[in-house]
Amino acid sequence: MRLGITGGKGGTGKSTVATALAIELAKKNKVLLIDADADCPNDHLILSIKRKKANDVFQLIPKWNLKKCIKCGKCSFVCKQHAIVFVKGNYPIFIPEQCNGCKACMFACPEKAIKKDKKKIGSVYYGKKENISFVSGELDPNQPSSEFIVSSVNNYVKSKQDKYDFVIIDTAAGTHCDVISALKECDFAFAVTEPTPLGEHDLKLILQLLKILKIPCFVILNKADVGDKNLIKKTANKFKTKIIAEIPYKKSILNAYSKGEPIKDKKIKQIADFLIKKFHD
Ligand code: SF4
Ligand code: SF4
Repeated sequence: MRLGITGGKGGTGKSTVATALAIELAKKNKVLLIDADADCPNDHLILSIKRKKANDVFQLIPKWNLKKCIKCGKCSFVCKQHAIVFVKGNYPIFIPEQCNGCKACMFACPEKAIKKDKKKIGSVYYGKKENISFVSGELDPNQPSSEFIVSSVNNYVKSKQDKYDFVIIDTAAGTHCDVISALKECDFAFAVTEPTPLGEHDLKLILQLLKILKIPCFVILNKADVGDKNLIKKTANKFKTKIIAEIPYKKSILNAYSKGEPIKDKKIKQIADFLIKKFHD
């Protein structure tokens, strides 16, 4: 079973839930935990896993042959990333940090002056902690496309994931391409949120995305006793789902969080029991 732990808003506790759930499920099952928050992976820190590099990830970038360039500016005109600066009468100037490898400039160049090159944008890592196998992707600083890293992570686990009972994917926040790429092929998802107007706003976005992707989901309400729970209940109802667990805002959880340790809470066990039942149904 492939599970997405996601949520529109950052800082709601996705990694906290994903790591705690991995520990609980791994007591009696084979678990693969994937940290797909390539901009800011931190599950390995919570679980104290020493990661090893599996492979580097490269992205296509353009390379100019200025001998062929007639200074028409078409490459700059089609670049939606603003990675090519063009001033009339001059050669185009390339800003590699902005480029997402879409190839539009190569197609647009009438003189075939642009060829393919590549740049390193990040790496895929693996590790293990007791019964939990672990994979994470990490984008290098100053690189724009975490989606490539998530795709690379997906490729890395493709041939391996079938041997696990549960594959847990901790996604990035938001509803961007990297989140879509991480949620792809999930059988089930949990949207982690908190009872605040911002939490409710971003919950709507992620529930909308999950609806489009046709992934069944439940809501996990973190910091449940701070703020207005009804706000989240109403939104969950609107999307024909419900809050499956409410994680309280309590000292023991905050202590674990501040030490960078996995949380222990009976609500996590309830979610794990629910998943195990679903897995065996
Ligand atoms: S590959 Fe795409 S993003 Fe990169 S410079 Fe060309 S048009 Fe711009
Ligand atoms: S489209 Fe080709 S010919 Fe025109 S400015 Fe760009 S590289 Fe030069």
